[in-house]
Amino acid sequence: MLDKKYDFKTKEEYWQNYWTENKIYAFDENAKEKYLIDTPPPTISGNIHLGHVFSYIQTDTIARYQRMSGKSVYYPWGFDDNGLPTDKYVQKTRKIRLDQITREEYIKICDETTAELRKVYLNNFKTMGLSADFSNPYSTNSQNTRKITQQSFVELFQKGDIVRRKSATLWCPDCQTAIAQSELENKELESAMNYITFGVKGSDERIKIGTTRPEMLCACVCVFVHPDDKARAHLVGKTAISPIYNVEVPIMANPECDMEKGTGAVMCCTFGDEADAKWQKEYNLPIKEAITPYGRMTDLAGEFAGLKIVECREKIIEKLRELGILYDQQILSHNVATHERCGTTIEILSKPQWFVRLLDRKAEIYKMGEQVKWYPERFQKRFLNWVENLKWDWCISRQRYFGVPFPVWYCEDCGETLVADLKDLPIDPISTAPKCACPKCGGKKFKPDTDIMDTWATSSLTPEIGIDLITKKGLTDKFLPLDLRPTAQDNVSVWNFYTIAKSLLHYNKLPWKNSAISGWGLSATGQKLSKSKSNGGTLSPQEYREKYSSDVTRYWASNASLGKDVYITEEEFNNGFKLMQKIWNASKFVLSFLDNYTPKKTDLLPMDAWIIECYKQTFKSYCSYLNKYEMGLALNSLEQLFWNFCDNYIEIAKNRLYKPEIYGKAAKESAQYASSQVLLGMLKMFSIYMPHVTEEIYQDYFAKIEKCKSIHISNFIDLGKKFDDALISKGNEVCEIVSQIRGYKSQKGLSLKEELENVTITGYGDFVASCADDIKAVGNIKNLIFKKGEKSVEIK
Ligand SMILES: [Zn+2]
Ligand SMILES: [Zn+2]
Repeated sequence: MLDKKYDFKTKEEYWQNYWTENKIYAFDENAKEKYLIDTPPPTISGNIHLGHVFSYIQTDTIARYQRMSGKSVYYPWGFDDNGLPTDKYVQKTRKIRLDQITREEYIKICDETTAELRKVYLNNFKTMGLSADFSNPYSTNSQNTRKITQQSFVELFQKGDIVRRKSATLWCPDCQTAIAQSELENKELESAMNYITFGVKGSDERIKIGTTRPEMLCACVCVFVHPDDKARAHLVGKTAISPIYNVEVPIMANPECDMEKGTGAVMCCTFGDEADAKWQKEYNLPIKEAITPYGRMTDLAGEFAGLKIVECREKIIEKLRELGILYDQQILSHNVATHERCGTTIEILSKPQWFVRLLDRKAEIYKMGEQVKWYPERFQKRFLNWVENLKWDWCISRQRYFGVPFPVWYCEDCGETLVADLKDLPIDPISTAPKCACPKCGGKKFKPDTDIMDTWATSSLTPEIGIDLITKKGLTDKFLPLDLRPTAQDNVSVWNFYTIAKSLLHYNKLPWKNSAISGWGLSATGQKLSKSKSNGGTLSPQEYREKYSSDVTRYWASNASLGKDVYITEEEFNNGFKLMQKIWNASKFVLSFLDNYTPKKTDLLPMDAWIIECYKQTFKSYCSYLNKYEMGLALNSLEQLFWNFCDNYIEIAKNRLYKPEIYGKAAKESAQYASSQVLLGMLKMFSIYMPHVTEEIYQDYFAKIEKCKSIHISNFIDLGKKFDDALISKGNEVCEIVSQIRGYKSQKGLSLKEELENVTITGYGDFVASCADDIKAVGNIKNLIFKKGEKSVEIK
């Protein structure tokens, strides 16, 4: 017997332990039908908030749906704790300055912090009732993951897909590291367009040039004009002389020069922006380094050496003005590339870095993006646009301490690069020396590569890292492509992009067939929850779990359209809470008539056939929505069925359940069959959203009947695929009539139990007439009369 009230506080924990102890969600590698998920490993970087569990709950509904559709679901769990977000979090919260600590000490602190946080994170996800395999989570910083990451590096190095070169690199002066294009965030900033003039060698003429970065003058290597620029055509081939520094640079024609911007002529400096970097390469221009890794001016800047970039800009503008070279200035808002992690304006520096060559594989990556099925579809466009606009090879070197090291040394005598053997991985080149002498010069002294890899060099391998938990095979394409990569919308051009790229380079295979993209959980005021913003800190999943239960929190998160953001409102949580209670009460009511009842097919009374038909049709749309990862729409259709079941069907059928002595044993059995099947079917459908309350009800009665250890490994109830729309509308007519009768009573201030003398139903067909007993019972009608004619219900 179910308790009078459902006590989620004790029950949720109880069932979570039960599922773990009984290995309910275990994956069977040999199962005929499998469903493999590439779970996003949550990034360990501070407090966990409600927005954080939002998308994971959505994925869990899909995992549960697939499992109950008869597949063995692989749903691994891991943590992303080797990247810049984690690193920066440790540095900030522990107030550490990297120049005041040794590399070893710092790594130790990072390891300790992440180990503590992993426990907190794990607990939060586990208590949300996720059906992932929490018994064996991976960490992107573990020895095993390092091995797979380094394996990927060595293989791609050997294939020539990874190269080390000194070329333009995106650089964050604050984080002191190279970064990749995917880490950029464009910001509209106000800046000044400064109009200055360059001299022309052997003439009195001056060329007008507009620049937002006059501090780069010392690194100017060329002046470009457009080939169609008639006014300046005569200058092409001549030499320009830069102001202040008096350096001679060539004047060249460049069709990419924007005649509408500034004066139409541009100075190319190494490197003021991305265009400079591109042109330097294309026109084979020399590289002059004006900026240090710390964001200060180099000696090249002469009297301005040592100044910060912005200070130098102010000083040089002053000087240009004094010299009469600055002839105009215009304030404009300007798109500036900043580092998404810290907001610092990015510089472009030339330092030796490791690059994954992606620019020459753009067409193939694009094609793979077309082959993946994206849900919602619009995200495919976002992905393809990103690939089209890719301007940089993927720089994977990071000048930080905490992360996966490169298994690489450099010969001190001849500079040769030595890469570790695959069989020796994982390796830390700082503490381990190479096993052989330099193959080029025989030298025995080596310098280790002291950089670490971009965190995405690891996360791009999550399909393999996840699969390795079962196969122990390291880097392998076994099981690839997986079925699903779920992720949030900001990852389309990052995580998804890198994973597809790696899968292309390693196996020329898709990493997964489908990618479902979730929106964000937003605060009531519409702000994106983020760990770095204070609005997320007050909304811990734990608070909501304690107040409303995990099931209700899950209801909130999954009652959303895929790819759309969802607000956190108390109203939505209250709706979920009401639903959870109603599921409990309705089940308790139905189960009270199922004592000693074993479901058996019987001749169904019309309204029993009707509710079964409603169930069948809902089940069909529920499945078709979930096959498209639309868990919110599936939930809506299920809720409609559930309220129809409670408000209409149960009211109509309950008299037959209560009083078999009046309506007969067969009428009771018909209602028992329909109500038990539909209730069980709905509980199963609800169980992917509210796994705890549904398990509690299932275990009270249905588990014995189905001889199944948990609702979550049972199969959905399929009551047939032949559909009868006419039956639905006929049953709905009965509901309408009943609702008119009840409306009449409440209008007249009568109790619902009050007897009605005469009710005349005119113009309805045989189906309504065949439900006469049900209508009489629910309306407590003495004389029910059926007539032909215009449709009406007359009550006296
Ligand atoms: Zn930064
Ligand atoms: Zn050597």
